[in-house]
Amino acid sequence: MRLDGKVAAITGAAGGVGRATSLRFAAEGAHIVAADVDDDGNEETVDLVVAAGGKATAVHVDVTDSGEVAAMVDTAEEDFGKLDILFNNAGVMLPSDDDAVSTDESTIDATLAINVKGVLLGCKHGIPALRRAGGGSIINTASFVASVGAATPQIAYTASKGAVLSLTRELAVLHAREGIRVNAVSPGPLHTELLMKLLDTDEKRQRRLVHIPMGRFGKSAEIANAALFLASDEASFVTGTNLQVDGGLTAAYVTPE
Ligand code: NAD
Repeated sequence: MRLDGKVAAITGAAGGVGRATSLRFAAEGAHIVAADVDDDGNEETVDLVVAAGGKATAVHVDVTDSGEVAAMVDTAEEDFGKLDILFNNAGVMLPSDDDAVSTDESTIDATLAINVKGVLLGCKHGIPALRRAGGGSIINTASFVASVGAATPQIAYTASKGAVLSLTRELAVLHAREGIRVNAVSPGPLHTELLMKLLDTDEKRQRRLVHIPMGRFGKSAEIANAALFLASDEASFVTGTNLQVDGGLTAAYVTPE
């Protein structure tokens, strides 16, 4: 198994990517600390992991709350003895997020708090634990919008994901000699609640699909597979990178008919 005996904390574990990754990591032998503000969804993820024969604990974590993020790390060490993998994956794209002129300040503040401060707090509390474990892997979820301008305005979200990429690079450099690898995964448009709530008509979905050379939305499981590679020892010389998992979106100038 590719993560045999490893301990992974996963934020946003109630959601599409977080749940798929919890299941994938557990199937590869990792013990999961599932963290989310959505307690019912989080418990459901843990139940699914356990039903599949894995080990998991649910913790209520708002990633903007330093004390709750610290408690997530404590849970990993207390329940499973250590922390090896930190997947900073929780994120929001708020319906009120629009262009710079229209987006209100509360939307900007909330988006940056969850998508940027949340990742930093994960690292603030996770890195000392990874050091105690003798090294480890941090994976931060960015987005294709960190690399290309979005056709649908969502300026606070785009700014937040750009920040995730830049902080990932700096952390990778700072902690490379400690055996802590830090990478980002950048999903393209996925068939999860986060995006489907926004693209709520066929017309809106088609408008997004024309930008994807593969002509379809991605699946959470496809992001989980990329995170698995970055989490595993197979990525032992990979740090500071941004793994684009986007059906070719960021490579495209025009897409085939
Ligand atoms: P999702 O909405 O299914 O899951 C996100 C999860 O984060 C939810 O369970 C939610 O409860 C949780 N969350 C929100 N605020 C939180 C907080 N303050 N503290 C803890 N948890 C919180 O979305 P998803 O598609 O699984 O998104 C996972 C990540 O992938 C996000 O960072 C998102 O920005 C990114 N992403 C998604 C897409 C897409 O098309 N769905 C594309 C690119 C990037």
